Amino acid sequence: MDRIDLGFMTGKKVAVLGLGKSGLTAASALLAGGAEVSAWDDGEAARQQASAAGVPVVDLASRGLSGFDMLILSPGIPRSHPAPHPVVSQAEAAGIVIANDIDMLGMVQAEAGFIGITGTNGKSTTTALIGHLLTAAGRRAAAGGNLGTPALALPPLGRDGWYVIECSSYQLETVSAVRWDVGVLLNVSPDHLDRYADMASYVAAKEKLFLHQPAGATAVIGVDDDWSREIHRRLLRAGGDRRIVPVSSAPDASLAVGGVHAAAGVLVDETSGRAEEIIDLRNIPTLPGRHNWQNAAAAYAALRAAGVAPAEIARGLSSFPGLPHRQELVATLDGIRFVNDSKATNADAASRALGSYDTIYWIAGGKPKQGGLDELTPFLDRVVRAFLIGEGTEKFAAYLDGRVAYERCGDLAAAVGAAYRQALRDGRKDAVVLLSPACASFDQFRSFEHRGEVFADLVRALPADRTNGRAGGPA
Ligand code: ADP
Repeated sequence: MDRIDLGFMTGKKVAVLGLGKSGLTAASALLAGGAEVSAWDDGEAARQQASAAGVPVVDLASRGLSGFDMLILSPGIPRSHPAPHPVVSQAEAAGIVIANDIDMLGMVQAEAGFIGITGTNGKSTTTALIGHLLTAAGRRAAAGGNLGTPALALPPLGRDGWYVIECSSYQLETVSAVRWDVGVLLNVSPDHLDRYADMASYVAAKEKLFLHQPAGATAVIGVDDDWSREIHRRLLRAGGDRRIVPVSSAPDASLAVGGVHAAAGVLVDETSGRAEEIIDLRNIPTLPGRHNWQNAAAAYAALRAAGVAPAEIARGLSSFPGLPHRQELVATLDGIRFVNDSKATNADAASRALGSYDTIYWIAGGKPKQGGLDELTPFLDRVVRAFLIGEGTEKFAAYLDGRVAYERCGDLAAAVGAAYRQALRDGRKDAVVLLSPACASFDQFRSFEHRGEVFADLVRALPADRTNGRAGGPA
């Protein structure tokens, strides 16, 4: 497969800080392009992996950055809060350009179209969905960034191609070279506050997506939370020739007048001034719940901005295969559905899954995030019983006390067994054993993917009657 050619960096001296997937890909692409690369990661294992891949590893903090042309920063490294990484401080003091892999892609593929997606929740789903819709409509498209494939591992697309890039707020802090033809901001809720001094700085990082848009670009903004609504208002006030499309999936359709909404589950396009019904999203099993209607509405608006016809978008929505670990139906055993929503690492995300089912045996817990669990409260009446795991157990127990029956299970294996037995005993119709932890995974797992895979393995190992179940396929 063709690779992105960073030949324009030949002879440049580039420091690469952070050697995870995106940093390592960037270092290798820069080396292949003839740049002089010095790379560093504070973790020994990452350094070893980079060395093994032929990337020169240099202790940048001790060596200093004099003589470097550019610092490529990985998204996991703090630029400011709680404290800038020492190498970042050195680069800033020396006036060295700080960029990231998405910037490099923007520089070298400037003639391609760029769609950037950000938001607290739904980024990966919407990125994958937009990529799928473009491809289904016969466009040349590649999706990646924060999701899956790092920017510099995407293929060169050139003119008429579309890059669909998921951007975390961390990445947006640094990106300045990409011109987003379409910027999509889904929603903003308190998360990652460990990385930001306050909510205002977090919102400012997200809003940076709209700073770098070319003339005639489109801004697609979810308007279902106060912070995003505020950004929407600011953009409207700023004026200019940008198209601003509000999208909403709240029950109140009037929030997105003149935009795209899915208040009742039917996707409605009002951008022409008339309300046009596009498709009933309730019939698409891979996009369950109101939150996915928001993702679908945003993706639809982005596709319209890319010039794809409504009927073609509707067809593509129906064939979306869904993403693993996001309300993914792992199996149905004895009539009980087992849903893997391991990606729900905060209360807001988990509340979306709870809102999608009626009879829930809920596995929750893990490494707790800052912030409360109040967003879950409106959905607790759907939970028959909770099965608590990991470091978050006592936080959840205290929260659930007097509201929902719960038990302390310790680990996921015990929780899956207990939830399954309880659901079997109760024999209720439409029972769902839902892993939607509202916590990070790092207390007991390597990642949310690892947690989801362990869940799926445990479910498959249950001594269940599989004859009346339909295994596989998305929820
Ligand atoms: P991200 O990449 O932003 O973390 P994902 O698409 O991976 O988002 O979804 C993560 C979790 O967030 C899912 O498990 C789902 O429950 C929830 N979610 C998905 N889309 C939305 C949305 N638009 N609003 C709120 N929660 C969402």
